[in-house]
Amino acid sequence: CYILGIETSCDETSAAIVKDGTVILSNIVSSQVEIHKRFGGVVPEVASRRHVESITYIVQEALDEAKLTLDDISAIAVTRGPGLVGALLVGVSAAKAIAFARGIPLIGVHHIAGHIYANRLIKEMRFPLISLVVSGGHTELIYMREHGSFEILGQTRDDAAGEAYDKVARSLNLPYPGGPQIDRLAHQGTANIPFPRAWLEANSYDFSFSGLKSAVLNALHNADQRGEQLAAENVAASFQASVVEVLVEKTFRAVSEYGVSQLLLAGGVAANSALRQALIERSAQEGVELVVPPLKLCTDNAAMIAAAGTIQYQQGDFSDLDLNGTPGLSL
Ligand code: ATP
Ligand code: MG
Ligand code: FE
Repeated sequence: CYILGIETSCDETSAAIVKDGTVILSNIVSSQVEIHKRFGGVVPEVASRRHVESITYIVQEALDEAKLTLDDISAIAVTRGPGLVGALLVGVSAAKAIAFARGIPLIGVHHIAGHIYANRLIKEMRFPLISLVVSGGHTELIYMREHGSFEILGQTRDDAAGEAYDKVARSLNLPYPGGPQIDRLAHQGTANIPFPRAWLEANSYDFSFSGLKSAVLNALHNADQRGEQLAAENVAASFQASVVEVLVEKTFRAVSEYGVSQLLLAGGVAANSALRQALIERSAQEGVELVVPPLKLCTDNAAMIAAAGTIQYQQGDFSDLDLNGTPGLSL
């Protein structure tokens, strides 16, 4: 089957065509990051307008690159949530229009299911598995016993990992989005500041990053008061060390408790080089197969939505034409 995927939940307008849930024929991603940069974050109304301007061109480009026409498409998979409501509505409306006009199935996809299924574009999934989802809005450990089944073992109680990266970057006066900037800076520094690790209760798989974020802000503020300046690269390295240590420890506790054969990494923060490196080393030690998508499939893209949508297509899990964007959709 050929699934056309559409993703507009935040600030990437993306359309892709995926064959049989595993082969990417095209994956066009138009990022608005340059537009939002000067505001220091995504401005929802600006994002929606930009999606409206580009969506038809992006869909056409995805078809052209795949050398297909809408006649060849089996179904349309679109992100229905979570995300910015105005942004989601653009993709959902476009998908509904195409599905209605062509008389083909419409499939509403959960954005996080998409991030997880980015892995299936790299390697076939082997169940049961655990996925560590680390993105701009989510930090979750998810257990999957089969396709389409998502059990949340733990999640953040406050900030998401990516959100913490972006906020700490901002306090270091780094441009948006801050994650890649901190990643880069951390390589030049030493993790010599003892920032806290939020382990929470002994058996909890939940996360918390707001205490860490406050600790970084306090350290910068206190140094400032003393008329000193902390080296930004050491702050970045120390912050990153705390985030990575907690993510990796909790993930491997879950891997051993649930006895899974595969570990999938998902979400924009999966692009983080320190996190990837730590997971690669630990997986080798513990003998679990780790799947890490390439950077382009970690951040928002429509191929991952088409990949997740393919499973729903095969299960006959279709949406009606009254499908709506749902900002706070749960998995
Ligand atoms: P969600 O998927 O939860 O709705 P989102 O789609 O906005 O949120 P993604 O696009 O998956 O999030 O990821 C974006 C986040 O990833 C940003 O917070 C960004 O700073 C972070 N990020 C990207 N690259 C890196 C990196 N190398 N290191 C750390 N964080 C990174
Ligand atoms: Mg984005
Ligand atoms: Fe995302």
